[in-house]
Amino acid sequence: MIERPSGEVPTVRHDIAQRIQAFTPTVFAEMSALSAQHGAVNLGQGFPDFAGPAFVREAANRAIDAGHNQYAHPAGLPRLRSAIAAAFSSRTGLDIDFDLHVTVTSGATEAIFDTIMALVDPGDEIICFEPFYDSYPASVTMAGGTMRVVRLEPPGWTFRIDSLRAAVTERTRLILLNTPHNPTGKVFAKDELEGVAETAREHDLIVITDEVYDRITFDGARHISIATLPGMWERTLTINSTGKTFSLTGWKIGYAIGPEWLQHALRSVHQFVTFATATPFQHAMADGLEQASENGYYETLLQEYDARRTVLATHLDAAGLPALPVQGSYFLMTPFDHLGFETDVAVCRWLIEDIGVTPIPPSAFYIDPTTAPKLIRFCFAKERATLDEAGRRLAGTLSRAQGR
Ligand code: PMP
Ligand code: GLN
Repeated sequence: MIERPSGEVPTVRHDIAQRIQAFTPTVFAEMSALSAQHGAVNLGQGFPDFAGPAFVREAANRAIDAGHNQYAHPAGLPRLRSAIAAAFSSRTGLDIDFDLHVTVTSGATEAIFDTIMALVDPGDEIICFEPFYDSYPASVTMAGGTMRVVRLEPPGWTFRIDSLRAAVTERTRLILLNTPHNPTGKVFAKDELEGVAETAREHDLIVITDEVYDRITFDGARHISIATLPGMWERTLTINSTGKTFSLTGWKIGYAIGPEWLQHALRSVHQFVTFATATPFQHAMADGLEQASENGYYETLLQEYDARRTVLATHLDAAGLPALPVQGSYFLMTPFDHLGFETDVAVCRWLIEDIGVTPIPPSAFYIDPTTAPKLIRFCFAKERATLDEAGRRLAGTLSRAQGR
């Protein structure tokens, strides 16, 4: 113990800031730790267990060896921003100036946090579709804002446009959208996006759209960026993550595309949160984006994900746990009411401990977890062997659940 010359013993306040007192470890960290502890097959936290494309990994090694290891431009390497602008322009037809309209961040998570910190004052309200990715309410809380939610209802994950309109108040600042959607696999249809856009225009709201799974859509579902709808570019920030596009989530290279005034807001926060993002990985992602449009990478990515989805869906069917249909992302949602558990947390724990397969309880994606529908989420961004091992273990689930 340190004693001051006066003999007085200093005390340290152990209480943490009020705004984070309710935070607990994320459901992903919690389930991954439990999974490792029980040697379960981890289909919980969304990350690929395969290596990611060699042409991008090799580019990172080359960038390190070439000495690209000091701080990058705070808004992102011009080379990478240019590649991002080109890829987004070719997909949307929007005319993007990389220097004015693109910022590189440490993952989509950082872009979401920075944007909310930059735009939300204490007391402001944010509208979000429920279920929602767990970093949204945390970011809103840190900014002192309040979340109002519009529910997506299974099995189609539709919403009523009236509910969206009714959620708007004098204090509403922005709408937070996520398409393709985690955890439901919904891809918002054009008329739904038009409804969101109309509400945003009518009430002069900003739209933050999280499109990290934009390259992963199935069965002809078409991903549409809301920024392409009339009157939307100037009020929309489109957030993405090369971690998803190139199956390299640990590199944490995300980005945000939008008009100058929203870039100014985002960059004002970004410069003091991370200042700049890891330089060699930005170089590698620039190579990735430059080459992917020519070497058929996106088509292969999609075919592989489609095959992984079919493998997991087949295993879940065989185990008596058929999943709901999905249009995008790399998750499947499975009803569990016939297994005799009260909550998704209880069934997830039992599956990890007794069956050896790890899902995620999506109640963590609801403001009031007790209102979550009885579903659990499995991730299929995994090697065939991992999915087959999960299938083998899941085979006895129904009889084991009945015999508890
Ligand atoms: N948004 C959604 C919908 C996600 O599922 C994830 C995580 N996988 C993220 C954002 C975070 O992306 P990043 O790892 O680039 O921060
Ligand atoms: N987005 C991933 C998921 O939904 C998890 C990312 C994380 O753990 N932060 O599973």
